[in-house]
Amino acid sequence: MTLQDHLLRRIRAEGPLTVAAYMQDCLLHPELGYYTTRDPLGSAGDFTTAPEISQMFGELLGLSLAQAWLDRGSPTPFTLAELGPGRGTLMADILRATRGVPGFHDAAQVVLLEASPTLRAVQAETLSAYEPRWIDRLDELPKTPLFLVANEFFDALPIRQFLRDGDGWRERLVGAQDETLVFGLAERAAQPALAHRLEDTRDGDLVELCEAGTAILDEVCTRIATQGGAALCVDYGDWRSLGDTLQALRKHTHSEVLQTPGQADLTAHVDFEALATSIAAAGCRFTRLTTQGVFLERLGITDRARALAARMDDAGVETLIAAHRRLTHPEEMGNLFKVLGIYAGDTLPPPGLDA
Ligand code: SAH
Repeated sequence: MTLQDHLLRRIRAEGPLTVAAYMQDCLLHPELGYYTTRDPLGSAGDFTTAPEISQMFGELLGLSLAQAWLDRGSPTPFTLAELGPGRGTLMADILRATRGVPGFHDAAQVVLLEASPTLRAVQAETLSAYEPRWIDRLDELPKTPLFLVANEFFDALPIRQFLRDGDGWRERLVGAQDETLVFGLAERAAQPALAHRLEDTRDGDLVELCEAGTAILDEVCTRIATQGGAALCVDYGDWRSLGDTLQALRKHTHSEVLQTPGQADLTAHVDFEALATSIAAAGCRFTRLTTQGVFLERLGITDRARALAARMDDAGVETLIAAHRRLTHPEEMGNLFKVLGIYAGDTLPPPGLDA
């Protein structure tokens, strides 16, 4: 059975699906989901990410987290966690860059939240030297101070979409017309979670809600507030998102969201205001939302590139310059991607970010 067949059957049995239910099946259906069945990263895959572009990204995030650990008195033991680690490249770069930080590796238990068995196997290979532990749910995190990273994780979580209609909202749904998946709209209803969006939207505007992201951050922040620690969340999006940002990416080009379920990556822009609201509600502080370009420059990416270039041939230097540009330039990933730091009450924010 294809995922398309499964979805058509499900819609016939249950009625139209929310966009979130559609995304969840497309990305993580146990046998047919996009992430469950493949490693989508890299030039031969469907998309690429900052850690796959250059080792400098993970090195600098690692040093920011290690400094945050030192600033909190080097708590031992502690949990070094990643949400959605892909190929394990980011965590491998974090660990290599922090080798020289006294006590850091001995105190760290590496914990990975990963839903895809295929990617877990890749991570096991990349990180075999560090004996990582995989978890399915965040309540399995050890009860020690938590230092956590997430890159392009929140954009992969299911979102619901709502169209403004007077004082209410019509939820966007996925239904079936014959053998084709089509978008439709539910009846108008009140949405208490969107009360604040009645201020900045008009009839016909579309807004998105990522309930899974809020629930995950709630657990992360409750840990950081009670056990100590810090977190760095990097993703594309803005403080408040407006409009339909759901997109499908296949072989590095955009495709139709409903056309190839399970065959394309589905993502949506992250609404950082919604994340910040759940951070504050769980008793943590959040940093100023900072562009990836500014964050990496503050942490010294240009000096790091110079140091790496000194040991490279001309072709290597050219690749390195292109990677530096791609990660930091405002017209590449520099402005689109943002960094939000999480920390607890009376400590400093992670380096590279402002209170
Ligand atoms: N952080 C990596 C990979 C980003 S792709 C990088 O920067 O290269 C998104 C990752 O999140 C994949 O590893 C995917 O399998 C994982 N993922 C997506 N939804 C998830 C969920 N609900 N729970 C756990 N992992 C998830």
